[in-house]
Amino acid sequence: MAEAETADQVALDEVVSFTSELIRIDTSNRGGGDCQERPAAEYVAERLAGAGLEPCMLERTRGRTNVVARIEGTDPSADALLVHGHLDVVPAEAADWSVHPFSGEVTNGVVWGRGAVDMKNMDAMVLAVVRAWARHGMRPRRDIVIAYTADEEASAVDGSGFLADHHPELFEGCTEGIGESGGVTFHAGRGMEIYPIGAGERGTAWLRLTAHGRAGHGSKVNHHNAVSRLASAIARVGEHEWPVRITPTVRASLVELAALHGIDADPDAEGFDADELLGKLGPAAALVEPVIRNSANPTMLDAGYKVNVIPGHATAYVDGRIVPGGEAEFRTTMDGLTGPDVDWDFHHGEVALQAPLDSPTYLKLRAAIERFAPEGHVVPYCMSGGTDAKQFSRLGITGYGFAPLRMPAGLDYQALFHGVDERVPVDALHFGVRVLDHYLRSA
Ligand SMILES: [Zn+2]
Repeated sequence: MAEAETADQVALDEVVSFTSELIRIDTSNRGGGDCQERPAAEYVAERLAGAGLEPCMLERTRGRTNVVARIEGTDPSADALLVHGHLDVVPAEAADWSVHPFSGEVTNGVVWGRGAVDMKNMDAMVLAVVRAWARHGMRPRRDIVIAYTADEEASAVDGSGFLADHHPELFEGCTEGIGESGGVTFHAGRGMEIYPIGAGERGTAWLRLTAHGRAGHGSKVNHHNAVSRLASAIARVGEHEWPVRITPTVRASLVELAALHGIDADPDAEGFDADELLGKLGPAAALVEPVIRNSANPTMLDAGYKVNVIPGHATAYVDGRIVPGGEAEFRTTMDGLTGPDVDWDFHHGEVALQAPLDSPTYLKLRAAIERFAPEGHVVPYCMSGGTDAKQFSRLGITGYGFAPLRMPAGLDYQALFHGVDERVPVDALHFGVRVLDHYLRSA
């Protein structure tokens, strides 16, 4: 039975004004702890309260505010669903932009500013939907827990990490969650539109490498030079060719993307060459290429203090990313690459995630996109980096990346993410509200 849409004109107007007004609240997160999400948190809390909900404001650090609210479902025996979005944004240099990045300007059907796609758009869409439900007396089947988080663009210790570790009671019953990255049009060339839904994330492995040696005068023979040892290790790490490791989500991405290109791919077949297949997928290869293997990129070096002094130790940092299930191999490989004279440890680590593709949640997410973008092709994908879903996974919540937008061909969504002139068309926001409304009502 077709239910009437609850995404009415008020919801369509509100999503635009909420996105614009949230952009105007500068929540730049430079990572040094000076970000203040509180004004944005108050903004969303007020609007949730206006929909008859009772939002809680939670802070680990003054001004780093998170907001959590629960909508009671009609079926108390059903598992709850988490819907989350972060309130902070990455910084923006106003001089580089065509409009002021915190103006929230709406011009010719486009909303401009930092956060327009990452991710004040989704924050606004969720507000618009729950307020429409309140107007229409609509209640979902399962409980829906809404979380607006602080600090996603840095370590999440003041945001989702704090919520997961110190307020698990607010997420009671949540088995699945939807959040950042996914459900956005990917233009794959020749008019093909793909809607990748996030169903996994590589793990984060930020490593510190420390080389030890014998300190001494720079003019003397020294076969235990920490700088040379570090340099050799770092070169081996940087040049290492990681083997292809196809996880279930990536396997599905490859098979489905290949099919869209008229190719019958079998990743389980002997001699299957993932790189060769990627070469035939055109722009769509970008959805899979970063996640078919582990990676480890040296990013920082620190050694020595004077040209004629050989230091006793030298340090480097490596940005490692690990495919789901790839941690043991990652460790063994790093031990081998760094060698006996260089130690390494996890400076910061976060788990890899993988979500099932045969779950009712995934099927409903796909159906919601297909209903409003029948010309589009939904494909699961694994994210190369991470989102708040990692922290919420500590509560046993399976995360999907789903913050739907229909983006026109001329706008490169990936470039807008953390980019200059970040912006989102009003039409894209309207699509997002309709899809979210439809999905959440069917969830
Ligand atoms: Zn984000």
